[in-house]
Amino acid sequence: MNTEELIKNDIVIKKLADREEIGWINKKEIPYNEYEKNLPLFDDDLKDAEERLKRFAPFIKKSFPETEDTNGIIESPLEPIFSMQKDLEKKYNTSIPGKLYLKMDSHLPVAGSIKARGGVYEVLKYAEELAMKAGMLSVNDDYSILADEKFKKLFSGYKIQVGSTGNLGLSIGITSAALGFEVIVHMSADAKQWKKDMLRSKGVKVVEYTDDYGKAVEEGRKNSDADPKSHFVDDEKSLNLFLGYTVAASRLKKQLDEKNIIIDNEHPLLVYIPCGVGGAPGGVAYGLKRIFKENAYIFFVEPTLAPCMVLGMESGLHEQISVRDIGIDGITHADGLAVARPSGLVGRMMDSILSGEFTVEDYKLYDYLRCLNESEDIRIEPSSCAAFEGPVTLLKYEETKKYIESRIGKNMENAYHICWATGGRMVPEEDMKKFLNTYLK
Ligand SMILES: *Cc1c(COP(=O)(O)O)cnc(C)c1O
Repeated sequence: MNTEELIKNDIVIKKLADREEIGWINKKEIPYNEYEKNLPLFDDDLKDAEERLKRFAPFIKKSFPETEDTNGIIESPLEPIFSMQKDLEKKYNTSIPGKLYLKMDSHLPVAGSIKARGGVYEVLKYAEELAMKAGMLSVNDDYSILADEKFKKLFSGYKIQVGSTGNLGLSIGITSAALGFEVIVHMSADAKQWKKDMLRSKGVKVVEYTDDYGKAVEEGRKNSDADPKSHFVDDEKSLNLFLGYTVAASRLKKQLDEKNIIIDNEHPLLVYIPCGVGGAPGGVAYGLKRIFKENAYIFFVEPTLAPCMVLGMESGLHEQISVRDIGIDGITHADGLAVARPSGLVGRMMDSILSGEFTVEDYKLYDYLRCLNESEDIRIEPSSCAAFEGPVTLLKYEETKKYIESRIGKNMENAYHICWATGGRMVPEEDMKKFLNTYLK
């Protein structure tokens, strides 16, 4: 592939190569009713994932007491952040018509990040398969029996491995350890020390790499494939992981209903999700479009220093291109988003449904963090602060502004914006203090 040519002929890719912030509209998006006819995943698949999580609820409740209140359902609050909305408008001299909310996956039980959706789901599904194959479990059982010693003994004969920048490792490691699996987490160089420490304290084997996420995944996969009793959680290719994330949508619908919020043509939903390899935001986006169809507008946000998804989608090359090919090394303060090569599986699905993308400079993540802390007394990790770049710059770029005017028009006054906070609850206080005092500009 001739990347020089790409950079010369494509203004978007040139801007990405120059590390410029961009607001990008996905020109391959198709009307949802047309997309619906050719869905790669059906309602049955989504329903099946939802049902499986319900079956596991008694086990989750028993193993993770923090899910007591929700009866073993792993879910996060949806909070209005109107005071932050005002502060953002003032600080960034912008207008955010409608109402701004925060979906606090940052505070999900079990793993403290959005990975508590996909990661936990995939491990549970694997455990269910093994237990059923062994004749020890059937769908009508009370799944709290999975906490019994005999299941731990069964699972201890199997291994689960994963490559991660941190949060996926936490989620897989914590869940697998609770079930009794042997777990190996292959951590990229970006991974924060406290995440490795926490995993080791739970008996998880952590292998550290001096290289990036792509390398950690590659090594993990190789290691696992060589062992018939090892299951590799493949962040770039796993449909199960993806399905775990999609469940967020039906849960969000319920929360909106409870707040008497109706999403329709006059009341559009705009959602902004930080993106790394694409699995988490892609799964959530897919689920949301299934439910809210043409009234949901989904935007991803990536660091200017690791804009892999927008590069893959704009070039059409998906996993065939890395940000390194356009001279970016993929190293960013947004450790959860430090991914150089996107998932092609997700990128191809997003081609049809994603509204667009924003890229954001690292220094702003800390500014947004301080703004959230001061206006709402909420703290999340820097990676997840990327979400705020969406509402702040949506009407600032000519391209995204035109898209909103033509699609939504004056109904923008009634819009609901949701910034998806993807991680943060487990960040140690000391680290959070440092984040709050980090100024890059
Ligand atoms: C993993 C992660 C994301 C993005 O998820 P991908 O599946 O990698 O796209 C966003 N924010 C945080 C905090 C994460 O840990």
